[in-house]
Amino acid sequence: MKILVIGGGPAGMMLAGQASKKHQVILIEQNEKLGKKLFLTGKGKCNISTSATLEEFEAKIVRGKSFLKTALTNFTYENCLDFFKDLGCPLKIERGKRIFPVSEKSSDIIKALSLYCKNVDVKLNEKVIKVIKVNEQYKVITSKGQYVVDKVVVATGGLSYAQTGATGDGYKLFKQPLIETKQALVPINIKAIPLRKCLKLKNVKLICEEIELFGELDIYSSKIEGPLGIMMSSLINRKENIALFIDFKPALSLNQLQIRLDNNKYKDLSLILKDFLPLDIIPTFLTKCQNKKDIPYYLKRFPLDYLKLDSYSRAIITSGGIDINYIDAVTFESKINPHVYYIGEVLDVDALTGGYNLHIALAVAKQCAEYI
Ligand SMILES: Cc1cc2nc3c(=O)[nH]c(=O)nc-3n(C[C@H](O)[C@H](O)[C@H](O)COP(=O)(O)OP(=O)(O)OC[C@H]3O[C@@H](n4cnc5c(N)ncnc54)[C@H](O)[C@@H]3O)c2cc1C
Repeated sequence: MKILVIGGGPAGMMLAGQASKKHQVILIEQNEKLGKKLFLTGKGKCNISTSATLEEFEAKIVRGKSFLKTALTNFTYENCLDFFKDLGCPLKIERGKRIFPVSEKSSDIIKALSLYCKNVDVKLNEKVIKVIKVNEQYKVITSKGQYVVDKVVVATGGLSYAQTGATGDGYKLFKQPLIETKQALVPINIKAIPLRKCLKLKNVKLICEEIELFGELDIYSSKIEGPLGIMMSSLINRKENIALFIDFKPALSLNQLQIRLDNNKYKDLSLILKDFLPLDIIPTFLTKCQNKKDIPYYLKRFPLDYLKLDSYSRAIITSGGIDINYIDAVTFESKINPHVYYIGEVLDVDALTGGYNLHIALAVAKQCAEYI
């Protein structure tokens, strides 16, 4: 059987390598090399997977939780460790259950996946433009020629970091229902606040309605980032009228803060606040809170004026894409276009940071290849 894979990211490479054990596989990548986005991951170290339990993993999935269950059950992090070890790229588990290559080089993950594709006919600098169904087969038209194949796998990624080749082509190659895309894991733009440099806050909460995230938050004069900022973006990207708040003192209740305030001997607001906040944020805090009696409230619920999410060019992942209701969750075959498969970020699945998104791309690709 002849299989053509569109896209040489982690999903496409994993599938092509696995399927090439039994079939003739062609992998078409428009870039001059494989894994251009993969190279950037984890700040060049590549957080390839996570040792989270299935339950913990599912808690980090924003869209597609039940759809991904079979693939995640069949490709665990232990499988991932073995897979890369066998390809000469051992992995290690770090703080927060994050998994990286021992070498801390994303290029080693790319080398390993390229090695896995040693029996694949890899075509670089070639872009798939159109696919036409011809009887029971597909004619794939590219920038350099055409191929007639039995099965087509779409692994073209999403829309984020377009310079890596993620241009959304996979959404248009077949008639397939789509869910509107949104930027995810992206900085959040806020109305400017008077800050000279980035404030790095630890042990705070970022709150939006019922969503409360605890951890580290980076505040710049006109955007928020850091783990809490970018994770919040994935959870609010389909909400309207967004109101964001910081709880600077999650460990203390309003009452406890009030008692501490009553015990504070200073009269000057700035001096009082030194007991409660890092120095750098006090001027910003004073733009919203000018009364001593209001201090506890604003310490628990300091408002940030939301403007919008930053652009796709800064988004780690794309939310939305190929509607998973029309994709088989076991084989990843389209329920509308027979012998067409969708894997990786092109699908309407996304998760928070921590190696979840790459693990999903690999697990789905592995499962799909086994069915093919
Ligand atoms: C800066 C950054 C850091 C990240 N860090 C992490 C991390 O540490 N851990 C983690 O889990 N996730 C991380 N991610 C997310 C992760 O990179 C993606 O989830 C993953 O790359 C998706 O894999 P994919 O194979 O589906 O798509 P991609 O990696 O986007 O690959 C798709 C490929 O398809 C090709 N293509 C598209 N259209 C065509 C066409 N018409 N013809 C031919 N080829 C085509 C593209 O050129 C591209 O190479 C990060 C993302 C970014 C942007």
